[in-house]
Amino acid sequence: MQAPTPTPSQTSSHAPELQRIAEAIRVRQRFVLSSHARPDGDSIGSQLALAYALRALGKSVHVVNKDPAPGPLMAFPGVPDIVIADRVSEVFDAAIILECGDLDRTGVAGLDRSFVINIDHHPGNSGYGQLTWFDPRAAACGEMVFDLVRTLAVPLTLEIATHVYVAILTDTGSFHYSSISPRTFEICRETLEAGVDPVRVARNVYDSNNMGRLKLFGSVLSAMQIDPSGRIAIVYVDHEMAREAGGTYEDTEGLINLPLTVKEIEAVVFFKQIEGDEYRISMRSKGDIDVGAVAKEFGGGGHKNAAGCTRAGPIDELQKLFIDRIETAIDTRESSVADLQN
Ligand code: AMP
Ligand code: MN
Repeated sequence: MQAPTPTPSQTSSHAPELQRIAEAIRVRQRFVLSSHARPDGDSIGSQLALAYALRALGKSVHVVNKDPAPGPLMAFPGVPDIVIADRVSEVFDAAIILECGDLDRTGVAGLDRSFVINIDHHPGNSGYGQLTWFDPRAAACGEMVFDLVRTLAVPLTLEIATHVYVAILTDTGSFHYSSISPRTFEICRETLEAGVDPVRVARNVYDSNNMGRLKLFGSVLSAMQIDPSGRIAIVYVDHEMAREAGGTYEDTEGLINLPLTVKEIEAVVFFKQIEGDEYRISMRSKGDIDVGAVAKEFGGGGHKNAAGCTRAGPIDELQKLFIDRIETAIDTRESSVADLQN
């Protein structure tokens, strides 16, 4: 069952679900926090901002993810201490799941044995758990965690503020996506007042790469194709390309955004070979082009401007299929927004 979309009058910070979750947290003591497999900046930032807030309230907190955080995020407080596991054996007073449209997205077994609290902003959240707070208008799950921290009356420490800022910076594609609202900047303003240095954060997130990554970017971008309409960039990586460049698949994180820096490019589709004919497919778009709907059609999910899925098949056919669907998404975007962009 899909959770109902909140009506506009329920601003995030006044959502009744938020109050219920705050109350459920107050009366509990032992927590496990988890987020989606292959975590991104919003998963890690949301989780750790909440972990620090709960610890400030004297709670015991375990942070468990299926996969390690991306390398550049290791510089931020608490990130190297996240437990990497594919199951939890203990039953906790509550399992708080952040950034997951479905509980399975964690890739961590055993969480459902605890009281599950679901906090997420992905359109199509399945409404799993005993308590769900779902706000698809939040630009990052970190915005929701910020509201929760405030509701719990925990002071905005530098650690909490840093993680909220990392979540927002990364999940808005460095303030590029249409999910940004005045509230996004209001929250960022408060994190800066709490001591966050946006220059240092940006240096850590974006400028701490290895040479293999830069070379891999080079080889993937040289092989990039553009569809005949000139609006869609198609990028591809397989294990051999990564090995030759001396990089890893993790090193391709963020690469997908680069083709969008070209004025005429409106969407990007990135095929990453998993094994044989199986691919992870990531998509990005500008403005009101809904690649989330394309990912959903193929069993994946995400947001309007950033989405993904997994699909098997001959690469030529997959490319044709996705270009076709993305072209339709470009042609059917809301005309008012298209007019604004022109
Ligand atoms: P990515 O392209 O992997 O960075 O993912 C972009 C967005 O799409 C993120 O918000 C992901 O959570 C979401 N996403 C990616 N793959 C899937 C999937 N298989 N199912 C649901 N959501 C996905
Ligand atoms: Mn997110």
